[in-house]
Amino acid sequence: MNVSLDHVSKRYPDGTAAVSDVCLQIEDGEFIVLVGPSGCGKSTTLRMIAGLEQASEGTIRIGDRIVNDVLPKDRNVAMVFQNYALYPDKTVYENLAFCLRMRDFLPRHPDEGGVGGFFRHRARRKAEIDRRVREAAQLLGITDYLQRRPAALSGGQRQRVALGRCIVRNPDVFLFDEPLSNLDAKMRVQMRAEIIRLHQRLRSTMVYVTHDQTEAMTMGDRIVVMQHGVIQQIAPPVELYDQPANLFVAGFIGTPPMNLLPVTLERTEGGSFIRGDGFTLPLPDRWSATLADTTPNSFSGKELQLGIRPEHVGSPAAEGDVRLPRLQATVEFVERLGSETCLHVCAGGSRFIAQVDAHCPAKPGDAVALAVQLESAHLFDPKTTLRIV
Ligand code: ADP
Repeated sequence: MNVSLDHVSKRYPDGTAAVSDVCLQIEDGEFIVLVGPSGCGKSTTLRMIAGLEQASEGTIRIGDRIVNDVLPKDRNVAMVFQNYALYPDKTVYENLAFCLRMRDFLPRHPDEGGVGGFFRHRARRKAEIDRRVREAAQLLGITDYLQRRPAALSGGQRQRVALGRCIVRNPDVFLFDEPLSNLDAKMRVQMRAEIIRLHQRLRSTMVYVTHDQTEAMTMGDRIVVMQHGVIQQIAPPVELYDQPANLFVAGFIGTPPMNLLPVTLERTEGGSFIRGDGFTLPLPDRWSATLADTTPNSFSGKELQLGIRPEHVGSPAAEGDVRLPRLQATVEFVERLGSETCLHVCAGGSRFIAQVDAHCPAKPGDAVALAVQLESAHLFDPKTTLRIV
């Protein structure tokens, strides 16, 4: 089912503006991730979709229905929380079955009237609950634990039970509030893959909140980046990475992070350049035209912010390319990650991270000339923070 938020804002009674003018159209079957630093308003947005918080302004729709005043239990959404929220005294089976037992989820057949019909309906309901519980348990690989209580399960198994509790309800929308934060790193990666598989299998609409940009990049069909209650950009992962709308998104998405450095544009008889503290690089032709368009009167001396990803500073494929400009720098320290190596270098007062070949022999104190793929870099306006190229 599709979900839409139309100019939605939330102000808490103490005056905190948690969410401001959020507009978001979520397609039926889409996996949307809300990501941003702690306090940016992502949980509040999710909780407004769930009905756990009332929007101060704007319209929230699930399908064609406006749900602003619909109770959470009547929205047909299911939510997975960080702390699992399981009943400790119930077995896994009972935890899965409980929410179905509590609601009238199965309409009565015409032949289920009267006293006899009541018992026939009850038996059919029981069988349907059993079928759904076992199907969800099988899907999540927890069939062997159905008779255990939550205390006898690992964190990953508990989170599977919490997921199963949503699946049995067959909701129109799944809502996830940082569901993997309590798991160790390895289990997080495993559960991430399981949730992706689950989405591929069920094709339900899923809205997922996380502060972890890697989780967002790996899971979302589209990602919504938020800061201070405001949406900064909505885009598929690769677009977000390649074409960040502003400095915040550029710095937030990607590990190691994008290098962001103040630079000045210079036009001389010898050509056009980008000059930073300790480095000068030739301006790519492609940029000259765009910059002339955007800053026709103040091209030279214009202060901008250069954004270049570590893989575009000294990437191994580029090392032999003599056409690429070089950044003369000194290695400060080296991070060896196995599949690649990160050199933390300085050129004058500017510090860069360069992602180079795993076996690069560089060590602290070495002078290096790193090939820079400036064509893949960006320029941002430091005043508006928006990307120019
Ligand atoms: P996130 O999920 O991105 O960490 P939240 O949506 O939880 O952020 O919170 C957004 C802002 O609203 C934060 O500044 C937070 O302190 C504030 N906030 C959250 N819940 C309440 C509340 N019940 N009362 C007052 N302020 C709140």
